[in-house]
Amino acid sequence: SRGSEFVVVANRLPVDRVTGGDGVRSWRRSPGGLVSAIAPVMRQRQGTWIGWSGAPDEELEPFEEDGMRLHPVRQSAEELELYYEGFSNATLWPLYHDVIAPPVYDRAMWDAYVRVNQRFADAAAEVAAEGAIVWVQDYQLQLVPAMLRRLRPDLRIGFFLHIPFPPTELFMQLPWRRRILEGLLGADLVGFQLPGAAANFVRLCRQLLDARTVKQDIVLDDRTVRARAFPISVDVGELSDLVARPDVRRRAQEIRDDLGGGTVLLGVDRLDYTKGITQRLQAFGELFSDGSLKPGEAVFAQIATPSRERVEQYQLLRDQIEQQVGRINGEYAELGSPVIHYLHTSYDREELAALYLAADVMVVTPLRDGMNLVAKEYVACREDLHGALMLSEFAGAAPELRRGAFLVNPYDIDGLKETMLAAIRAEPADQARRLRAMRKRVLEHDVERWACDFLEALERPTNQAVDLT
Ligand code: UDP
Repeated sequence: SRGSEFVVVANRLPVDRVTGGDGVRSWRRSPGGLVSAIAPVMRQRQGTWIGWSGAPDEELEPFEEDGMRLHPVRQSAEELELYYEGFSNATLWPLYHDVIAPPVYDRAMWDAYVRVNQRFADAAAEVAAEGAIVWVQDYQLQLVPAMLRRLRPDLRIGFFLHIPFPPTELFMQLPWRRRILEGLLGADLVGFQLPGAAANFVRLCRQLLDARTVKQDIVLDDRTVRARAFPISVDVGELSDLVARPDVRRRAQEIRDDLGGGTVLLGVDRLDYTKGITQRLQAFGELFSDGSLKPGEAVFAQIATPSRERVEQYQLLRDQIEQQVGRINGEYAELGSPVIHYLHTSYDREELAALYLAADVMVVTPLRDGMNLVAKEYVACREDLHGALMLSEFAGAAPELRRGAFLVNPYDIDGLKETMLAAIRAEPADQARRLRAMRKRVLEHDVERWACDFLEALERPTNQAVDLT
């Protein structure tokens, strides 16, 4: 058969396996903005999505689902441990997030990363039509652009990094720094969440490769690579449909009633050390110990979605948070009414939308975050202009939402306490003004716009190297 004109390469396929009541297994489209933004483009252009099925050691033939051609790439249990949990999540993840946790530098993990990246590149080379557009996603696949270009110099290759790109001083720790950088430079366009990340990348190219750069362009011998920022966003249409549903609104009221009538603060995070969960809970607890809040006046609902549970750092963090929640509740809860409701589970879109509607203060205080979609989802859901967003300066969403959010340095416990109180006490007119400013931005820049902007930039011909002599 003819190859695809449009190919997406991501660690995971955009579908999850579900088992029905009758025990029959089928596929369902994965939740989340990335998939809903790219799915329409996939259908229009008869694209192919290359990714892993989610089950180790599974060999699957290409298949079609939800109008998309899916091309599974195998991953063994050992590769899952070394490439995914290892190099991706124990090396790159902490290194790119300001080394909040120490990165593991392990040669067996690196070897597996190279091997799995090559498999994805081989698959893309096989399915792409002559001159096709290939869009590679995220930190698990940074070697794919160069590997793919070597096999198929005819392709137009884009790469988007969903997480931060660190300053040179941190990136230089990586024993394989040159290989990663050269891997990324196989792309025609390298996309980042923020201009600062693109600038880090361009500066690194100068320092490590002595490359010539012109503004945000890296001028190589035979071609030019562009580094640009494309802040990702949420599916505003989907969220606005959800919050219009009577069952979702009823559920929001039910949640408020269950939480007992005080001001509701909400955190929704994967249980990850980048999210600043312990700092925010500490600040909340201190508001009771110093008498700023009385039990019953405010409650905190913290959703901590299970994540990367086989990586040691994550197990330690879970113990730490659970001990902390126990200590604070032990001290300030009254019978039948804890001050912190801690939920270690993951919720579907309906329940999340209901939670957003139930929350007076949305607390988003990561120590470092590429974007943070939860912040934008909250804003998109609050059509009623009620509620306050407390937002870390170190979230990628901060530059876009700074005019309406209660910004905070998540390391500063006193600052967290003050800002929490200010958000709790914000007047309705102030809440409305702030939400209006933030909604304007999010509604005009939703995830569909993000995908279009990236693809438009990728398809625009690269200017020939500008001659500055
Ligand atoms: N999310 C979800 N169920 C949950 C918790 C979170 O579907 O129980 C979704 C949430 O709505 C958001 C995403 O997971 O779209 C988290 O993205 P974010 O950028 O906030 O953080 P990440 O987990 O990617 O670091």
